[in-house]
Amino acid sequence: MRRDPSNPLLLTPGPVSISMTTKRVMLTDRASGGVEFQADLQFARDYMVGLVGGRGDYTAVPLPGSATYANEAVIAALVPVGGKLLIHTNGVYGDRLIEICAHTGKSYGAIRTPPFTPATAAQFEAAIEADPAITHVMIVHCETSTGVLNPLEAVADVCRRHGKGLLIDAVASFGAFDIDAKRLGFQAVTVSSNKCMQAAPGIGWSVVQKTALENAKGNHSTLALDLWDQNQHMDRTAAFRFTPPTQVLAAFAQACREHQAEGGAPARFRRYSRNWRRLVDGMRQLGFVTVVPDEFASPIVATFHNPAHPAFSFERLFEGMKKRGFIIFPGRLALANTFRIGCMGDVVEADMADAVSAVAESMEEMGVVGLGRTELAMSG
Ligand SMILES: *Cc1c(COP(=O)(O)O)cnc(C)c1O
Repeated sequence: MRRDPSNPLLLTPGPVSISMTTKRVMLTDRASGGVEFQADLQFARDYMVGLVGGRGDYTAVPLPGSATYANEAVIAALVPVGGKLLIHTNGVYGDRLIEICAHTGKSYGAIRTPPFTPATAAQFEAAIEADPAITHVMIVHCETSTGVLNPLEAVADVCRRHGKGLLIDAVASFGAFDIDAKRLGFQAVTVSSNKCMQAAPGIGWSVVQKTALENAKGNHSTLALDLWDQNQHMDRTAAFRFTPPTQVLAAFAQACREHQAEGGAPARFRRYSRNWRRLVDGMRQLGFVTVVPDEFASPIVATFHNPAHPAFSFERLFEGMKKRGFIIFPGRLALANTFRIGCMGDVVEADMADAVSAVAESMEEMGVVGLGRTELAMSG
């Protein structure tokens, strides 16, 4: 199927493509005070809390901005003065959490593990035991820079046994993975309005344990990102403190309805898994090699080695894909010779089949033809 290159399908780790029905909601000018806005806000907040099974004990707080704003707000609020955050990183997004602490002056420690495998619970246990000052632990659930899925349940278990507060960057997993508040006992998860929730980018969500947030009262050196204040204001007035992203919020409520209609997180997980399977199988047939072992890979994005063929260039593959209506993404980390194709968003298996055909055509166009697996082996 030919796609319209001026309206491309985003096969990237974010922003992701969203449905026409969600986009259409944004065509109306929307006031910040009306009953419609209030109803959308209440519904969306309640839906987010419901997704983690946290009704009663948790609250969902939207802040205008990307998901990094939510990460910064959560760290600023929940790690108290005198507290210390243990951050795990095996990629770009773990590194960004460290940067947030460095910028906000929060005391932190870091465990760095290799990029293509998940961390182990034992590594967290050792780090916690080695440093009694640690009060909180933060983990990136799905590390989007590689696609590696980190062991949430095992880390939650370590935190519970040691009495540490758990903060989760679930930006690339929330909405497609089972993230259960009662089982994990987390203090906060952070979420993007885009990615697996499939609404427009522009809201950084946090779903926070009410007791933890209550303890954060006044624990702020920032006005706009004050999570406690944003939450209490919303609870009292059903409004944002400052000009809300009204269209984006309305689209978010619509995206929640579509999430629900699809069958919630389990259905979305199955669809993304089918996308990922079709993509990876198709790319392997063309001779591409994945970077992350399948057992550690999450179905939201796949990372491929650039083929060693002299005629291959990622820029030309990117242009070839773009002209055929697909946007793909270069590698991150120190992963110079890799590229990524995302499986999230309003994307189905047939789109992935088309994308693989577009890769085959683009490869032929650049003169990388008739090659088997061995000749296309990774360039390292
Ligand atoms: C996308 C993403 C973020 C936040 O990125 P923003 O550009 O601020 O939206 C954080 N963590 C993970 C795991 C992500 O995938």
